[in-house]
Amino acid sequence: SKFEYAGFPATLLQSCKGFEKPSPIQAQCWPIILSGRDMIGIASTGSGKTLAFGLPGLTKALAVKFTAYQPSMVCIAPTRELAVQIAKVLEEAGKPCDLGVACVYGGSPKHVQAKLLAKAAIVVGTPGRLQDFMNDGTCDISKCRYMVLDEADRMLDLGFEKAIREIFSYTPKDRQTLMFSATWPQEAAKLAGDFLSTAVQVTI
Ligand code: AMP
Repeated sequence: SKFEYAGFPATLLQSCKGFEKPSPIQAQCWPIILSGRDMIGIASTGSGKTLAFGLPGLTKALAVKFTAYQPSMVCIAPTRELAVQIAKVLEEAGKPCDLGVACVYGGSPKHVQAKLLAKAAIVVGTPGRLQDFMNDGTCDISKCRYMVLDEADRMLDLGFEKAIREIFSYTPKDRQTLMFSATWPQEAAKLAGDFLSTAVQVTI
């Protein structure tokens, strides 16, 4: 199938088994992301966005040695529902490769999520709870090489800018950063200007 040309490990491609071909956003994003560039994706949910950023992230996570409490991929999402949905897709895709995924969000006991963080190469979460786990030292994202902001415009609407900026302060400079947003307000552009370097912009 056309998926094989994307260059992902065969074990990860099992996640695409039911699909006929890459969705437009996947076809556009994969080469850009795999080349290591930062990227802005103007797209909404339902486009196949999760695997568009997920498969390159999982590929990157596979390439590094796993250390407890030091995820190599972090994805920030505006709501618990979206975080859970993303984590589910990544967990499914990463299962054949033994990649652990932790989903963290507020309103749920921290100790349960902290336990999951120990085994997770990939962390998906809402800004407040993620920030909380950084601040108390439970999660160390200083080795995170792949940061994804999903539904950035919604996160800004919900007042998460400060939390996002603080989370970024814990990340290394040599990370790859991706930002997805349905709309592109000035605040989103400002955030991208501060945390992405010479990003490629893709509009679906
Ligand atoms: P997302 O935008 O990531 O929430 O994905 C929306 C829906 O599209 C999900 O149900 C996916 O399983 C599905 N999907 C993802 N990639 C493809 C593809 N290449 N072809 C058909 N459906 C897909």
